[in-house]
Amino acid sequence: MWGYDVNERHRADAIVEVLSDYDHEFPLIEKGLSKAECHGIADKLGLKRPVMYDMGYPNNNCIGCVKGGMGYWNKIRIDFPEVFERRARQEREIGHSCIKGVFLDELDPNRGRMDLEIMEDCTIACQILAK
Ligand code: SF4
Repeated sequence: MWGYDVNERHRADAIVEVLSDYDHEFPLIEKGLSKAECHGIADKLGLKRPVMYDMGYPNNNCIGCVKGGMGYWNKIRIDFPEVFERRARQEREIGHSCIKGVFLDELDPNRGRMDLEIMEDCTIACQILAK
């Protein structure tokens, strides 16, 4: 069962295609529910949403998502400095930056606007590796 919302049909389609040997359920898409509607329903039911939303992040990605932009990483730097430092070290170890062309240890703290950044989709390979 997957938690993609009605605006993420393309992700559901990709999952069905990549994992075609399995049956998949997408209850939010089947009910036509958006993420905002789900948050509203959860709130009415008294369910607490993941703290990352309350901290101002647009989704509940892994803390230190490798697909975040400059604004995202500068917020992670403030909110989760140990994660920022670890990812910065990892970038240097593997010789590849999360943000195209800028290593985290060189990122200007004033760059980026998370509210304008669109994070790329999680891919199934990333989800498997993140486990
Ligand atoms: S699995 Fe990968 S892409 Fe998805 S939230 Fe985690 S780090 Fe980001």
